[in-house]
Amino acid sequence: MIHLENVSVEYPNGVRALKDVSISIYKGEFIFLVGSTGSGKSTFLSLLYRGMLPTQGKVVVDGEDITSLKPSAVPYLRRKLGIVFQDFKLLPQKNVWENMAFALRVIGTDPREIRRRIGDVLELVGLTHRCDSFPHQMSGGEQQRAAIARALINHPTLLIADEPTGNLDPATSWEIMQLLEQINVRGTTVLVATHDSQIVDRMKKRVIQLEAGVVVRDVNKGMYEHCEA
Ligand code: ADP
Ligand code: MG
Repeated sequence: MIHLENVSVEYPNGVRALKDVSISIYKGEFIFLVGSTGSGKSTFLSLLYRGMLPTQGKVVVDGEDITSLKPSAVPYLRRKLGIVFQDFKLLPQKNVWENMAFALRVIGTDPREIRRRIGDVLELVGLTHRCDSFPHQMSGGEQQRAAIARALINHPTLLIADEPTGNLDPATSWEIMQLLEQINVRGTTVLVATHDSQIVDRMKKRVIQLEAGVVVRDVNKGMYEHCEA
């Protein structure tokens, strides 16, 4: 699903955010990308949706070397991906339904299909009763559910989440992670950047750890930082 080959990223200011990273992620996996602030997690994720290009190396997503994509092809890549951020990024003047419908109308989806898909994703994330609500009328957890629903609307093969629980309390964070796990069980590959060690320890998934732009650990059924039993 994802293959990074000798990938380095250097920002214009000279910061080397990723250093010779090589890693493979397979279809159907649930993966935590962990590491302290500034270790390169967001940079790693950004490469996958062509938020940026690597300074060196190859980035393959769903069988395609996306470093050579023409800019005009980038929207097609993003349609295969669902992306979720810490700050939800819902459109504040639109209600939940309109936040979902917006992206589908842009690509000319049939109105009946729009209704069907929105109904499905809202049910999946447990927000059917909130379809008329505006972001500011909802709790953080509900807003993140809405953002996840929107990310799923195109049936992505890969869901990328950058610190999705960063603004949420522990109980709500756990609910959101269980939702992401449920989405994974239904067949979507899920990649979550987080520094929430309690959640990572509890979920026992593959853990890829970055430190200063280098992959320092890659373990199955991992814990955040402790030794493996
Ligand atoms: P994380 O998500 O793990 O906190 P980032 O990928 O955001 O890490 O950052 C990795 C490193 O790159 C940090 O040193 C950060 O300061 C630097 N960095 C991130 N974005 C930029 C940018 N747009 N310009 C310059 N440096 C950046
Ligand atoms: Mg980050």
